Amino acid sequence: MGAEPRVKIQILSDEMASRIAAGEVVERPASVVKELIENSLDAGATEIFLWIEKSGTSVIRVTDNGAGMGAEDLDLAVERHATSKLKEDDDLFRISTLGFRGEALPSIGSVSKLEIVSRIPAASSGYRIAVDGGKKSEIRPVAATVGTTVEIREIFFNTPARRKFLKSPATELSHICDAVNRMALAYPEVHFRLQHDGRTVADYVSVADPKDRLSQVLGREVAKGLSAFNRDQGALAVHGFLSSAPTSYPKARYLYTFVNRRYVRDKVLTHALLFGYDTLLMKGQYPAAVLFLDLPFEEVDVNVHPAKFEVRFRRQSEVHEAVSRAIRQALKIEAKTPAASGFAPWPMALNTVCESAPPYAFSGAGAQNDSAPSRHPLFSLPGRTGIEESEGFFSSMRVLGQILGCYLVCASAQGLALIDQHAAHERIAFERLRLQLDKGQVETQSLLIPQSVELSAGEMMLVEQKRELMAGFGFTLVPFGPGAYAITSAPALLPEGDYSQLVRRMVAELAEVDTSAKLREHLEDRLATIACHSVIRANRALEPDEMRALLRDLDQIPFATQCPHGRPVLIEWRREELERLFKRLV
Ligand code: ADP
Ligand code: MG
Repeated sequence: MGAEPRVKIQILSDEMASRIAAGEVVERPASVVKELIENSLDAGATEIFLWIEKSGTSVIRVTDNGAGMGAEDLDLAVERHATSKLKEDDDLFRISTLGFRGEALPSIGSVSKLEIVSRIPAASSGYRIAVDGGKKSEIRPVAATVGTTVEIREIFFNTPARRKFLKSPATELSHICDAVNRMALAYPEVHFRLQHDGRTVADYVSVADPKDRLSQVLGREVAKGLSAFNRDQGALAVHGFLSSAPTSYPKARYLYTFVNRRYVRDKVLTHALLFGYDTLLMKGQYPAAVLFLDLPFEEVDVNVHPAKFEVRFRRQSEVHEAVSRAIRQALKIEAKTPAASGFAPWPMALNTVCESAPPYAFSGAGAQNDSAPSRHPLFSLPGRTGIEESEGFFSSMRVLGQILGCYLVCASAQGLALIDQHAAHERIAFERLRLQLDKGQVETQSLLIPQSVELSAGEMMLVEQKRELMAGFGFTLVPFGPGAYAITSAPALLPEGDYSQLVRRMVAELAEVDTSAKLREHLEDRLATIACHSVIRANRALEPDEMRALLRDLDQIPFATQCPHGRPVLIEWRREELERLFKRLV
């Protein structure tokens, strides 16, 4: 007992403390790349050139033409908690630079061999400093151009455990590319070049139009399917590029979200983005989007994650709502504005039957010329040409008949169109219901025979509290004995049937959700399911009048080209496609 030392707590040496801190910031070579690019951008650089050897494990060198550092600053830059970016205490709550902790350089220096050469415009020469495993060298003058070069060699040479965690060279390199690409998307005016083992991997020259940066980074194919949008919502600005509904990807790999030009992976933001696409994409499919949210610096806390990948919004639910609303509106406008020249947002082979691209407009006049698709789209909606102004896209079609009991065959202005009547009905019912929900005026229909729903004690309490809300969705519930409610009315748009299942599910959602946005999302989803399954049975012969009414209805609603589950409503073959299929054109 007595052998035990009285004091167990020890203060770590500076070196150890730095290495621990480095563990948080410097996870892999790509983290170094990210920190260095951030520093260059903060220094106002317009050229950032990266030289990487062996996936960053051997050399990472970043050269910029930014403001540079004088001898004294250079000496301080590699000290812990030394930053030029926070001047007053309050600055921490309105961070406008990418860096602010003064941690990156010392952390990197503690786990590698670091050398910095920097020159400010006012000085006739540059200065050099080196840090080797945390030990700082003297500052020496050297010849240098204005700007800064930071070189890191042998990362993790003194932390072998960390080195073991590195993945394959290919993986580490791809992380580096990701880091560069994210920054490049947010700073199109900056020239980025990435060279690896002597080969140029990326060379993104500065561009005036952010759209051109998309092509550079994401490739022409993906960039072509993206349209610019811009919504100012008071202090919040939401802008960027979105793919139209039927363009989708099985993974979230083309989702880029930025807050005040900082790349983040934020749950609220991603959720809001996908929520905007709700019911437009099939389950498990993702859009491509480059989304920028700009808001006052004091509205967002960026100091919540070591690598600054996450942020916290002061007004989280407002942000969520503003973003999803912006996305929704942008998509709606696109869906209503057919482009004059059709284009395919994704590559297609001629012999595959694909879903129709919805009308999708480029903003900006030059768009039509420069977007000439390399391969002609197989299906796309026709432009306004040839369609009378008064007539909508769908009602301008001539119904030729119905096949297989579920497809309308129509002559469109440009060729032949097939409409899935089931999907069309679903979307119509769904959009109308949604519109009514939006206005808070859901048309209800009293049930001749009330239906009872049995609920647990907890659910009974929930319903008790949320009866008004349920009424807002068109369901009137009245107590019906000790453990049940009776449904006495339902939304008129829903077909007659058993609603107890739906109500039970809505009640279950009530327990889960807190914000109204979430609640709506869940309920819309449920209603969509119901609408999809019960509005119309697929194989029903329609009268000619009914067919024309269906087309007219489609013109009245947004997102008419997709059913609420993201399946297409319309497939169209235009003249050229037909001619190709008949080999008149090759
Ligand atoms: P932070 O970016 O959080 O301030 P860093 O450790 O990354 O901390 O950098 C410390 C300081 O060094 C910065 O505040 C900045 O003044 C200076 N600095 C770092 N990199 C550069 C650069 N490329 N050009 C000019 N100054 C730089
Ligand atoms: Mg920094």
